[in-house]
Amino acid sequence: MRTYLATLLSACWLNSYFPRIWRRATVTLIHKKGDTADPQNFRPIALQPVLGKILNSCTRNRLWAFLTTNHLLDTTMQKGFWPGTDGVTEHTELLSYLLSNQKKLKRDIYVVLLDLKNAFGEVHHSLIRFSLEHHHIPAETINLIMSQYNSFYLNVSASKCNLNSGPVHVKRGVLQGDTLSPLLFNIVFDSLMSTLTDPQIQSHGVLWGDGLTRSLWTQFADDAAVICGRLRDTQLILAFYQRWTAWADLIIRPDKSFAYAASQRGGRYQQIQPSLTINGVDIPTIEQGGFMTYLGRRFSFASDAEQAKKIATDCVHEALDLVGKLPISPLLKCHALNLQLRAHLSFPLSHYSLSKTWIVANLDNLITGQVRKWLDLPPSATAHFMPLPAKWLGLDLVLPSMLAQVSRLGTALALQHSQDPKMRVLHELRADKVPFRDLVADVNRKEAAAKAKALQLTTKREKLDGLTVQSNLFKCLRAALTGSEATNWSHHLALINSNIANFARRALMRVLPTNSNLHRWGKLPSDSCPSCAGPETENHILNNCPTSAQQGRYTWRHNSVLKILAQHVLLHLPEGNEMFVDLPDFKNPEDLFTDILPDITVIHHGAAFILELTCCYEMNLEKSKLYKIEKYREASLSCKRNIPCIVNTAEVSSLGFVPSSSLNKFCRDIGIPPYPPASLRRMGEMSLRCSYFIFCTRHKPWPDKPTEPYFH
Ligand SMILES: [Zn+2]
Repeated sequence: MRTYLATLLSACWLNSYFPRIWRRATVTLIHKKGDTADPQNFRPIALQPVLGKILNSCTRNRLWAFLTTNHLLDTTMQKGFWPGTDGVTEHTELLSYLLSNQKKLKRDIYVVLLDLKNAFGEVHHSLIRFSLEHHHIPAETINLIMSQYNSFYLNVSASKCNLNSGPVHVKRGVLQGDTLSPLLFNIVFDSLMSTLTDPQIQSHGVLWGDGLTRSLWTQFADDAAVICGRLRDTQLILAFYQRWTAWADLIIRPDKSFAYAASQRGGRYQQIQPSLTINGVDIPTIEQGGFMTYLGRRFSFASDAEQAKKIATDCVHEALDLVGKLPISPLLKCHALNLQLRAHLSFPLSHYSLSKTWIVANLDNLITGQVRKWLDLPPSATAHFMPLPAKWLGLDLVLPSMLAQVSRLGTALALQHSQDPKMRVLHELRADKVPFRDLVADVNRKEAAAKAKALQLTTKREKLDGLTVQSNLFKCLRAALTGSEATNWSHHLALINSNIANFARRALMRVLPTNSNLHRWGKLPSDSCPSCAGPETENHILNNCPTSAQQGRYTWRHNSVLKILAQHVLLHLPEGNEMFVDLPDFKNPEDLFTDILPDITVIHHGAAFILELTCCYEMNLEKSKLYKIEKYREASLSCKRNIPCIVNTAEVSSLGFVPSSSLNKFCRDIGIPPYPPASLRRMGEMSLRCSYFIFCTRHKPWPDKPTEPYFH
């Protein structure tokens, strides 16, 4: 495939020919905003043959390399579509800084946001050819590019309303969705950019930074903003733009453009309504106290903190409402919430500065409060574990305060490492607000973000470790389990019955309504267990109550898990090997031993391999193991056959954690495959389900013949 593709593409390249069969596309309309009856409110996206797109991508990469190595393109004003450039961040940060800096210095500022009518669709093909020639692109390449616009047909379709236009001949415009179009579009616009970089014209811009830096114009694809210090200059630049659009045969829409200004009037710096025109038509002004939107960010005369707070709060509410309605388990809701927050909250948090205190008190609390409700956790349960990764038994939850820090760092990195030297000046001017300042020097943005995330999580973990009640349990588990064992537990929990999953989470947080907790919360006069009068803690109910033990509650759980443990051994047992299990339906260990009854014994190569199972409290995983090994140290003395005994242990905690290393050692000893993950999960879930039943019946009589919990 690769060989044929390379042959095919190089043949196209060498012959300057774009195959006719690729010159077609299906256009899908995507609604932007506003009235759906107006076609102007839709973005047409072209779906083309994949091979044609690959050829166009190759052409684009060659073209881009040629233009940049020869410095034939301006990349400081036009910032749409350039690879490796975060143009939205650079432009919006600059505009935001200029507005506030001019305000601070009480200097006038005029901003006009210009709108072009269907810019992509209106570019003349002759203008594309002219612009390519003007940029010294070799004739062969120009012919290759232009050959695709010769008899290109597209089909506009919308399945929902049965729209199918049939082939439409493309006579002008570039396709949105095509891989080469953005670059062609920018090359056409570059003639405007190169005239605007003229020092004479630049002198109309706003002065800032070191007193030598000026900014006059920002462009992102077809979205342009004029920034001037005086009304007269602004009108002059608009007239200039008008002439360029007339030459390029593009249409400015004055009614969809906006003018904003702030000026010192009557001794007071204030927002004003400037009177500016394009083609003799007045440009609407931003009303007093209103805002303008440029590249998705809102700008207003007042500090935009209030706006930003509202945007961010609405965003969190929307995400919570949407996810709350999904018919999925609480833990999957947390995952869905993460996706929503990352998609919708990252932008506002990267571009508006909100204080960390405000974010924690408002956004974080909204989320942790709702997650507590989903998981049925009491308000007293700590939220520190929520953002921790699954390998640390957390919920992997995205908290807005943490997202904000990483997003702000991303903005700082974008400015610091921009191709545009002005952006570094801008970064220096606003550097005091950046979290993780040490990481800004990092060239690799992904790595820097990962480092920031790791630092945040360590801080959260330290906070959790500082809480004595919960921390010991978390620490013990982190010590006893590998990262993937803990992760498997967390992920499996998201897939099982949510009553049981919530029970496990609450037990882990030590917030179950045990008498001990109810007493601590002031809701019960005594903390004692009604059966044995000992303090009724989680551990007491699930593992330690002597009355429960005597009633056989724990043995019932132990045997349910043992059954699954034995099934795997039985399935793979080599022929001729004997197996003894301390369960009905198996050879009884009494036949082999005098005064001990190991859970599983396999006779293999003339030795007895023992596997002893304990279902224990999370804190005692290690202790139980040592206890069992000590207990069976002299096992061979009890063996009726006078053969050596090798002892291994298996621990399954009452909440379903399964450390697997010693289990797998046993498997290796007797030459069978290790326990597959599904079987480990099943054992853990069995233990957890039994524990849940033991907990629910803690104040009820124990049935004579309890059935085994079943799996759904
Ligand atoms: Zn008790």
